[in-house]
Amino acid sequence: TFAALALPENLTRALTDAGYENATEVQARAIPPALQGRDLMVASSTGSGKTASFVIPALARILAARADAAAKPRERGVVYGPRVLVLAPTRELALQVAKAATVYGRHVQGLRVATVLGGVPYPLQIKALRGPLDILIATPGRLLDHLQTGKAVLDNVEILVLDEADRMLDMGFIDDITTI
Ligand code: AMP
Repeated sequence: TFAALALPENLTRALTDAGYENATEVQARAIPPALQGRDLMVASSTGSGKTASFVIPALARILAARADAAAKPRERGVVYGPRVLVLAPTRELALQVAKAATVYGRHVQGLRVATVLGGVPYPLQIKALRGPLDILIATPGRLLDHLQTGKAVLDNVEILVLDEADRMLDMGFIDDITTI
């Protein structure tokens, strides 16, 4: 059960709202070590609930970091960049992850999720990158553009997710990902 995973209450509540009763296998196996901050490589088929298996620990991390940040407030005018970066091979997948982040994060007050995708005009993305931002979901090529122009700041990333890493490699993103 999700109760057994001892998640923050506002995350458990979002899962209940979504109508989920029990964690799927990938969630039950990946969430506990991810909550401990371990590095994971996960293979799991489409539809197995893998998105929640990384979005939920990412949200837990954001909640914990916020509690710490309350003790040391951030400076005004400084671009901090996201704590969580998710790279995905396609726009469609990136948008699905963004949707999952807003569904599972619906009780996380003021959660800031942005996407940086190819084929979308630059100005709005640049505005979003100036933050403040909790989770950034991006396709590699466009994020690299923003890094090279200094618009994206990744100094504060604490969790990096390579979603469908095998597909990103098949699509030839290895150099972009290595640079990022
Ligand atoms: P994914 O594999 O992440 O694309 O998820 C596949 C589908 O399963 C999505 O529509 C989720 O909303 C749903 N889902 C994820 N976790 C659970 C769960 N624990 N119980 C029921 N449905 C879930």
